[in-house]
Amino acid sequence: MFHRFFGGIHPHDGKELAKGAPIETMPAPDVVTIPLSQHIGAPCKPCVKIGEMVKRGQKIATTEAFLHADIHASVSGKVKKFENGAIVIESDGEDAWADGLPMGRDWHAMTKDELLAAVKDAGIVGMGGATFPAFVKLAPKKPVDVLILNGAECEPYLTADDRLMREEGDRVAEGARILAKILGVKRAVVAIEDNKPEAADAMRAAVQKAEATGADEGLPKIEVAQLPTRYPQGAEKMLIYAITGREVPLGGLPMDAGTVVQNVATAAAIYDACAHGIPLIERITTVSGDAIATPKNLRVRIGTSYQAAIDYCGGFVGTPDKVLAGGPMMGRAQERLDVPITKGSSGILALTRKLTEHGPELHCIRCGRCVQACPMGLIPSMLSILGQRKDVARARDDYGVMNCVECGCCTYVCPAKRNIVQYIRATKGAVKALAAKEKAKAAAREAAAKAKENAKEAAKA
Ligand code: SF4
Ligand code: SF4
Repeated sequence: MFHRFFGGIHPHDGKELAKGAPIETMPAPDVVTIPLSQHIGAPCKPCVKIGEMVKRGQKIATTEAFLHADIHASVSGKVKKFENGAIVIESDGEDAWADGLPMGRDWHAMTKDELLAAVKDAGIVGMGGATFPAFVKLAPKKPVDVLILNGAECEPYLTADDRLMREEGDRVAEGARILAKILGVKRAVVAIEDNKPEAADAMRAAVQKAEATGADEGLPKIEVAQLPTRYPQGAEKMLIYAITGREVPLGGLPMDAGTVVQNVATAAAIYDACAHGIPLIERITTVSGDAIATPKNLRVRIGTSYQAAIDYCGGFVGTPDKVLAGGPMMGRAQERLDVPITKGSSGILALTRKLTEHGPELHCIRCGRCVQACPMGLIPSMLSILGQRKDVARARDDYGVMNCVECGCCTYVCPAKRNIVQYIRATKGAVKALAAKEKAKAAAREAAAKAKENAKEAAKA
């Protein structure tokens, strides 16, 4: 029995293009460009020098700031240059691993603190796209009793998590048990949309195997839940509500509802880190869309260029009108293809005009469809109008623009073709600037009041 969230849509899912394609390991490229900021938090600083030889899995950038994720070399070779906030490494073709990685250690014998340290050392972030450093999420400041492994993959076209669960469910199941141990939760659930029955079967088998072969340690039995397919089922707040019936308060975090949510790919990376000491240097990403010759699910090194991944899939067929980082609902349009695949790259989508053409934007006809579709209970029509008028304060204070999860449901259903999410994204950016301005004004007011007070005191004296 699952709780059904309000709103949501059923977009064409396009998953048929890549869901039948087994994970294929793309050979390491000759050059990787590894950004210093692939996570939420402070960017890292290089801890290697230009010209230095590095090995695969070696730490190449870090920072003393708390909120960050360390960066590691994804190939062995020479550090060629630092460019545009990234470290460029030229592969030596050896693909030699860094020394001392504890390949094949027994994670059951490790304490919670040791497991957490392994996650931190490996530079793991939320791989569903959120890129929040995992070690921070796994040390919540509030009591947590439920762990949810997000295998919903509700974004159209993306099939990387589906293939991961089907082909490498053991890594996910072991990772889920490690996460349950670190968090000390009473309940752990792998949540999968019911359009991925093979993934659900594979995960049930993998969980059974992990529970049969691993030590008991009092860990909860891992449930595999098949949720109704409905976008954005995989959004954290929707998933928490579906599984637990709990609502994350507005402006709150999953821990405010006693939960931690991690993507299934993150769980697999956590297993690699704890059992083998392998840092996050590669990921599975879907390269798909009607402009890609042979859509694939690629295991690809971090720092590989979009162009190289697209070429590996046979290049373009027809003329791509749009290349997106991520899926069509929440992805971001890319202007260049020399950008690198990062820890958060769940997919590369190339679409022809046939799929991107949607006619001119018209005035809102007040049909209310966007309101019905919004899973956050917002009034997207009003937010788009306020966005157009640049009425940032009203969008924030009266219409809760900051609660928008940018799922794109409103834009999708709008018959007037209004780019609602674009207006909302711009408004959200402006809210931050407004808040900074308001803070500066308040500080100036306070300073002026204090100066007046001091002057009065001086006059009295
Ligand atoms: S307003 Fe935001 S949360 Fe609501 S449907 Fe639009 S994008 Fe999604
Ligand atoms: S769906 Fe579009 S036209 Fe209808 S109310 Fe919302 S913004 Fe207006």
